[in-house]
Amino acid sequence: MDAWVVTHPGPIPSRPLRPVRVPVPSPGPGEVLVRVEVCAVCRTDLHLAEGDLRPRRPRTTPGHEAVGRVVAAGPGAGRLSPGTRVGAAWLRSACGHCRYCLRGSENLCPRSTYTGWDADGGYAEYLTVPEDFAYPLPAETPAEKLAPLLCAGIIGYRALLRSDLPPGGRLGIYGFGASAHLTAQIAIAQGATVHVLTRSARARELAMTLGAASAGDATDAPPEPLDSAILFAPVGELVPVALAALDRGGTLAVAGIHLSDIPPLTYQRHLFQERTLRSVTANTRADGRAYLQLAMAHPPQVTTVPYPLAEADRALADLAADRVEGAAVLTISSP
Ligand SMILES: [Zn+2]
Ligand SMILES: [Zn+2]
Repeated sequence: MDAWVVTHPGPIPSRPLRPVRVPVPSPGPGEVLVRVEVCAVCRTDLHLAEGDLRPRRPRTTPGHEAVGRVVAAGPGAGRLSPGTRVGAAWLRSACGHCRYCLRGSENLCPRSTYTGWDADGGYAEYLTVPEDFAYPLPAETPAEKLAPLLCAGIIGYRALLRSDLPPGGRLGIYGFGASAHLTAQIAIAQGATVHVLTRSARARELAMTLGAASAGDATDAPPEPLDSAILFAPVGELVPVALAALDRGGTLAVAGIHLSDIPPLTYQRHLFQERTLRSVTANTRADGRAYLQLAMAHPPQVTTVPYPLAEADRALADLAADRVEGAAVLTISSP
Protein backbone atom coordinates (compact mmCIF):
# COMPACT_ATOMS: atom_id res chain seq x y z
CA MET A 1 0.00 0.00 0.00
CA ASP A 2 0.96 3.64 -0.29
CA ALA A 3 1.78 5.44 2.95
CA TRP A 4 3.83 8.31 4.31
CA VAL A 5 6.37 8.05 7.12
CA VAL A 6 8.29 10.60 9.15
CA THR A 7 11.95 9.83 8.43
CA HIS A 8 14.02 12.63 9.97
CA PRO A 9 11.86 15.12 11.90
CA GLY A 10 12.72 18.68 10.95
CA PRO A 11 11.39 21.83 9.27
CA ILE A 12 8.93 21.11 6.44
CA PRO A 13 11.32 22.39 3.71
CA SER A 14 13.76 19.60 4.74
CA ARG A 15 11.08 17.03 3.72
CA PRO A 16 10.69 15.12 6.99
CA LEU A 17 7.78 13.18 5.49
CA ARG A 18 8.50 10.60 2.76
CA PRO A 19 6.19 8.45 0.63
CA VAL A 20 6.75 4.68 0.93
CA ARG A 21 5.33 1.39 -0.35
CA VAL A 22 4.76 -0.98 2.60
CA PRO A 23 2.76 -4.16 3.22
CA VAL A 24 -0.84 -3.78 4.38
CA PRO A 25 -0.67 -4.18 8.20
CA SER A 26 -2.25 -7.18 9.96
CA PRO A 27 -4.62 -6.43 12.82
CA GLY A 28 -3.23 -7.55 16.19
CA PRO A 29 -5.24 -8.94 19.12
CA GLY A 30 -8.36 -6.82 19.69
CA GLU A 31 -7.69 -4.73 16.59
CA VAL A 32 -9.50 -4.24 13.30
CA LEU A 33 -7.99 -3.42 9.93
CA VAL A 34 -9.52 -0.33 8.34
CA ARG A 35 -9.37 0.74 4.70
CA VAL A 36 -8.98 4.51 4.94
CA GLU A 37 -11.36 6.74 2.97
CA VAL A 38 -10.23 10.11 4.31
CA CYS A 39 -7.70 11.25 6.90
CA ALA A 40 -7.78 14.83 8.10
CA VAL A 41 -4.57 16.73 8.73
CA CYS A 42 -4.02 18.02 12.25
CA ARG A 43 -1.48 20.51 13.57
CA THR A 44 -0.15 17.69 15.77
CA ASP A 45 0.97 15.91 12.57
CA LEU A 46 3.00 19.01 11.82
CA HIS A 47 4.51 19.00 15.33
CA LEU A 48 5.48 15.34 14.81
CA ALA A 49 6.96 15.96 11.36
CA GLU A 50 8.92 18.98 12.55
CA GLY A 51 10.10 17.33 15.77
CA ASP A 52 8.30 19.58 18.26
CA LEU A 53 6.94 16.26 19.55
CA ARG A 54 9.68 13.67 19.73
CA PRO A 55 9.09 10.50 17.71
CA ARG A 56 8.23 7.48 19.86
CA ARG A 57 9.21 4.96 17.18
CA PRO A 58 11.08 5.31 13.89
CA ARG A 59 9.39 5.77 10.52
CA THR A 60 5.87 6.14 11.85
CA THR A 61 2.96 7.03 9.60
CA PRO A 62 1.19 10.12 10.97
CA GLY A 63 -2.56 10.81 10.91
CA HIS A 64 -5.13 10.42 13.65
CA GLU A 65 -8.38 11.60 12.06
CA ALA A 66 -8.99 8.60 9.81
CA VAL A 67 -12.40 7.55 8.54
CA GLY A 68 -12.74 4.21 6.79
CA ARG A 69 -14.38 0.80 6.60
CA VAL A 70 -13.53 -2.24 8.66
CA VAL A 71 -12.15 -4.93 6.35
CA ALA A 72 -10.77 -7.54 8.78
CA ALA A 73 -10.58 -8.35 12.48
CA GLY A 74 -7.62 -9.58 14.52
CA PRO A 75 -7.76 -12.30 17.22
CA GLY A 76 -10.45 -11.53 19.81
CA ALA A 77 -11.98 -8.69 17.79
CA GLY A 78 -15.17 -8.97 15.74
CA ARG A 79 -17.74 -6.73 17.41
CA LEU A 80 -17.40 -4.36 14.43
CA SER A 81 -18.37 -6.34 11.35
CA PRO A 82 -16.67 -5.87 7.98
CA GLY A 83 -18.08 -2.89 6.12
CA THR A 84 -18.77 -0.90 9.31
CA ARG A 85 -17.60 2.67 8.98
CA VAL A 86 -15.39 3.76 11.85
CA GLY A 87 -13.13 6.57 12.90
CA ALA A 88 -9.62 6.14 14.31
CA ALA A 89 -8.73 9.10 16.51
CA TRP A 90 -5.75 10.32 18.56
CA LEU A 91 -6.23 8.21 21.71
CA ARG A 92 -5.38 4.67 20.57
CA SER A 93 -5.29 2.86 23.91
CA ALA A 94 -5.17 3.33 27.67
CA CYS A 95 -4.27 0.75 30.31
CA GLY A 96 -7.71 0.67 31.95
CA HIS A 97 -6.48 0.03 35.49
CA CYS A 98 -4.24 2.91 36.64
CA ARG A 99 -5.54 5.56 39.05
CA TYR A 100 -6.31 7.92 36.15
CA CYS A 101 -8.16 5.35 34.05
CA LEU A 102 -10.16 4.23 37.11
CA ARG A 103 -11.33 7.76 37.85
CA GLY A 104 -12.47 8.43 34.27
CA SER A 105 -9.36 10.35 33.17
CA GLU A 106 -7.96 7.87 30.65
CA ASN A 107 -6.59 10.87 28.72
CA LEU A 108 -4.01 11.16 31.55
CA CYS A 109 -3.06 7.45 31.57
CA PRO A 110 0.76 7.22 31.64
CA ARG A 111 0.57 4.13 29.44
CA SER A 112 -1.84 5.64 26.89
CA THR A 113 -0.83 5.33 23.25
CA TYR A 114 -1.60 7.55 20.29
CA THR A 115 -2.46 6.96 16.65
CA GLY A 116 0.25 8.22 14.34
CA TRP A 117 2.76 8.53 17.20
CA ASP A 118 2.98 5.13 18.95
CA ALA A 119 1.45 3.28 16.01
CA ASP A 120 1.01 3.94 12.32
CA GLY A 121 -1.79 6.36 11.46
CA GLY A 122 -4.02 7.30 8.59
CA TYR A 123 -1.68 8.85 6.00
CA ALA A 124 -1.95 5.44 4.33
CA GLU A 125 -4.39 3.23 2.49
CA TYR A 126 -4.93 1.02 5.57
CA LEU A 127 -4.41 1.25 9.31
CA THR A 128 -5.18 -0.88 12.34
CA VAL A 129 -7.09 0.36 15.38
CA PRO A 130 -8.07 -1.34 18.66
CA GLU A 131 -11.76 -2.10 18.30
CA ASP A 132 -12.53 -0.59 21.72
CA PHE A 133 -11.05 2.74 20.64
CA ALA A 134 -12.71 2.98 17.21
CA TYR A 135 -15.76 5.23 16.92
CA PRO A 136 -18.63 3.88 14.80
CA LEU A 137 -19.67 6.56 12.29
CA PRO A 138 -22.70 7.00 10.02
CA ALA A 139 -22.33 5.49 6.55
CA GLU A 140 -24.20 8.22 4.68
CA THR A 141 -22.22 11.34 5.68
CA PRO A 142 -19.34 12.27 3.33
CA ALA A 143 -16.10 11.04 4.92
CA GLU A 144 -14.39 14.43 4.53
CA LYS A 145 -17.08 15.98 6.73
CA LEU A 146 -16.49 13.37 9.45
CA ALA A 147 -12.69 13.13 9.56
CA PRO A 148 -12.01 16.61 11.02
CA LEU A 149 -14.46 15.88 13.83
CA LEU A 150 -12.19 13.10 15.14
CA CYS A 151 -9.52 15.38 16.60
CA ALA A 152 -10.30 18.98 15.74
CA GLY A 153 -13.89 18.44 16.86
CA ILE A 154 -13.36 16.19 19.87
CA ILE A 155 -10.38 18.07 21.35
CA GLY A 156 -12.12 21.39 20.74
CA TYR A 157 -15.13 20.03 22.61
CA ARG A 158 -12.98 19.02 25.57
CA ALA A 159 -11.28 22.43 25.49
CA LEU A 160 -14.71 24.07 25.61
CA LEU A 161 -15.64 21.94 28.66
CA ARG A 162 -12.29 22.83 30.29
CA SER A 163 -12.88 26.55 29.67
CA ASP A 164 -15.85 26.44 32.10
CA LEU A 165 -17.98 28.69 29.91
CA PRO A 166 -21.11 29.74 31.84
CA PRO A 167 -24.50 29.47 30.05
CA GLY A 168 -24.86 32.44 27.70
CA GLY A 169 -21.29 33.47 28.49
CA ARG A 170 -18.66 35.40 26.55
CA LEU A 171 -16.02 33.18 24.95
CA GLY A 172 -12.77 34.32 23.35
CA ILE A 173 -11.19 32.03 20.76
CA TYR A 174 -7.51 32.66 20.00
CA GLY A 175 -6.43 31.18 16.67
CA PHE A 176 -9.04 29.99 14.19
CA GLY A 177 -8.07 26.79 12.41
CA ALA A 178 -9.87 23.47 12.07
CA SER A 179 -10.54 22.88 15.77
CA ALA A 180 -11.51 26.46 16.57
CA HIS A 181 -14.02 26.71 13.73
CA LEU A 182 -15.83 23.60 14.97
CA THR A 183 -15.70 24.65 18.62
CA ALA A 184 -17.06 28.11 17.85
CA GLN A 185 -20.12 26.51 16.26
CA ILE A 186 -20.94 24.45 19.37
CA ALA A 187 -20.51 27.46 21.64
CA ILE A 188 -22.70 29.67 19.42
CA ALA A 189 -25.36 26.93 19.18
CA GLN A 190 -25.36 26.77 22.98
CA GLY A 191 -26.02 30.52 23.23
CA ALA A 192 -22.53 31.88 23.87
CA THR A 193 -21.24 35.19 22.52
CA VAL A 194 -18.05 34.29 20.67
CA HIS A 195 -15.18 36.69 19.97
CA VAL A 196 -12.51 35.36 17.60
CA LEU A 197 -8.95 36.69 17.76
CA THR A 198 -6.61 35.59 14.97
CA ARG A 199 -3.92 37.04 12.75
CA SER A 200 -5.47 35.58 9.58
CA ALA A 201 -7.86 37.95 7.80
CA ARG A 202 -9.50 35.06 5.93
CA ALA A 203 -10.06 33.17 9.17
CA ARG A 204 -11.68 36.30 10.63
CA GLU A 205 -14.08 36.35 7.67
CA LEU A 206 -14.92 32.67 8.17
CA ALA A 207 -15.54 33.36 11.88
CA MET A 208 -18.05 36.09 11.08
CA THR A 209 -19.93 33.90 8.58
CA LEU A 210 -20.19 31.19 11.26
CA GLY A 211 -21.85 33.63 13.66
CA ALA A 212 -19.06 35.10 15.76
CA ALA A 213 -19.98 38.39 17.45
CA SER A 214 -16.62 39.91 16.56
CA ALA A 215 -13.33 39.01 14.94
CA GLY A 216 -10.09 40.87 15.60
CA ASP A 217 -6.35 40.43 15.35
CA ALA A 218 -4.75 37.93 17.76
CA THR A 219 -3.31 40.60 20.04
CA ASP A 220 -6.35 42.93 19.94
CA ALA A 221 -8.44 43.32 23.08
CA PRO A 222 -11.90 41.78 22.59
CA PRO A 223 -14.80 44.27 22.68
CA GLU A 224 -15.86 43.05 26.13
CA PRO A 225 -14.26 41.10 29.00
CA LEU A 226 -14.37 37.31 28.56
CA ASP A 227 -15.83 34.70 30.90
CA SER A 228 -13.75 32.05 29.17
CA ALA A 229 -11.10 31.78 26.51
CA ILE A 230 -9.54 28.95 24.54
CA LEU A 231 -6.06 29.29 23.06
CA PHE A 232 -5.85 27.19 19.88
CA ALA A 233 -2.80 28.90 18.37
CA PRO A 234 0.42 27.17 19.57
CA VAL A 235 1.77 30.55 20.60
CA GLY A 236 2.82 31.02 24.24
CA GLU A 237 3.00 34.83 23.80
CA LEU A 238 -0.78 34.82 23.59
CA VAL A 239 -1.23 33.36 27.09
CA PRO A 240 -0.78 36.71 28.89
CA VAL A 241 -2.82 38.44 26.15
CA ALA A 242 -5.74 36.06 26.70
CA LEU A 243 -5.45 36.13 30.51
CA ALA A 244 -5.56 39.92 30.46
CA ALA A 245 -8.74 39.76 28.38
CA LEU A 246 -10.55 37.62 30.99
CA ASP A 247 -13.11 39.05 33.36
CA ARG A 248 -12.78 38.36 37.10
CA GLY A 249 -13.15 34.64 37.73
CA GLY A 250 -12.54 33.79 34.07
CA THR A 251 -10.79 30.69 32.74
CA LEU A 252 -8.28 30.24 29.93
CA ALA A 253 -7.90 26.73 28.50
CA VAL A 254 -4.84 26.01 26.33
CA ALA A 255 -5.98 23.47 23.74
CA GLY A 256 -2.74 22.50 21.99
CA ILE A 257 -0.39 19.61 22.66
CA HIS A 258 2.57 21.91 22.02
CA LEU A 259 3.01 25.57 22.95
CA SER A 260 5.97 27.90 22.47
CA ASP A 261 7.34 29.34 25.73
CA ILE A 262 5.02 31.47 27.83
CA PRO A 263 6.52 34.87 28.69
CA PRO A 264 6.60 35.89 32.37
CA LEU A 265 3.15 36.54 33.85
CA THR A 266 2.31 39.38 36.19
CA TYR A 267 0.25 38.18 39.10
CA GLN A 268 -1.92 41.28 39.37
CA ARG A 269 -2.58 41.68 35.68
CA HIS A 270 -2.91 38.05 34.58
CA LEU A 271 -3.98 35.83 37.48
CA PHE A 272 -5.36 37.79 40.44
CA GLN A 273 -9.15 38.08 40.77
CA GLU A 274 -9.31 34.30 40.53
CA ARG A 275 -8.48 33.91 36.90
CA THR A 276 -7.63 30.31 36.02
CA LEU A 277 -5.13 28.96 33.49
CA ARG A 278 -5.45 25.29 32.53
CA SER A 279 -4.26 22.89 29.87
CA VAL A 280 -6.18 20.35 27.82
CA THR A 281 -4.62 16.90 27.38
CA ALA A 282 -6.06 14.73 24.61
CA ASN A 283 -9.55 13.42 25.36
CA THR A 284 -11.37 10.46 26.84
CA ARG A 285 -13.56 8.14 24.80
CA ALA A 286 -16.51 9.58 26.72
CA ASP A 287 -15.63 13.05 25.33
CA GLY A 288 -15.39 11.55 21.85
CA ARG A 289 -18.75 9.80 22.05
CA ALA A 290 -20.48 12.85 23.57
CA TYR A 291 -19.09 15.16 20.91
CA LEU A 292 -19.85 12.86 17.97
CA GLN A 293 -23.42 12.40 19.22
CA LEU A 294 -23.79 16.19 19.40
CA ALA A 295 -22.26 16.61 15.95
CA MET A 296 -24.54 13.97 14.40
CA ALA A 297 -27.63 15.61 15.92
CA HIS A 298 -26.56 19.12 14.82
CA PRO A 299 -24.06 18.67 11.99
CA PRO A 300 -21.49 21.47 12.04
CA GLN A 301 -20.45 23.35 8.94
CA VAL A 302 -17.10 21.69 8.19
CA THR A 303 -14.86 23.71 5.89
CA THR A 304 -12.38 21.36 4.23
CA VAL A 305 -9.56 21.65 1.72
CA PRO A 306 -8.98 18.28 -0.04
CA TYR A 307 -5.57 16.89 -1.06
CA PRO A 308 -4.81 13.51 -2.67
CA LEU A 309 -2.79 11.12 -0.47
CA ALA A 310 0.18 11.65 -2.81
CA GLU A 311 0.28 15.32 -1.77
CA ALA A 312 0.26 14.90 2.02
CA ASP A 313 3.55 16.82 2.23
CA ARG A 314 1.97 19.78 0.43
CA ALA A 315 -0.98 19.71 2.86
CA LEU A 316 1.43 19.95 5.81
CA ALA A 317 3.42 22.73 4.12
CA ASP A 318 0.19 24.68 3.57
CA LEU A 319 -0.83 24.16 7.19
CA ALA A 320 2.62 25.33 8.36
CA ALA A 321 2.25 28.48 6.27
CA ASP A 322 -1.32 29.19 7.48
CA ARG A 323 -2.64 28.71 3.95
CA VAL A 324 -5.47 26.33 4.96
CA GLU A 325 -8.87 27.74 5.75
CA GLY A 326 -10.75 25.20 7.88
CA ALA A 327 -9.42 21.62 7.80
CA ALA A 328 -7.06 20.02 5.27
CA VAL A 329 -8.12 16.44 4.42
CA LEU A 330 -6.39 13.66 2.51
CA THR A 331 -8.80 11.82 0.21
CA ILE A 332 -7.52 8.26 0.01
CA SER A 333 -10.19 5.83 -1.27
CA SER A 334 -13.88 5.71 -2.02
CA PRO A 335 -16.06 3.19 -0.15
ZN1 LIG B 1 -4.31 3.89 32.65
ZN1 LIG C 1 -5.05 16.14 16.27
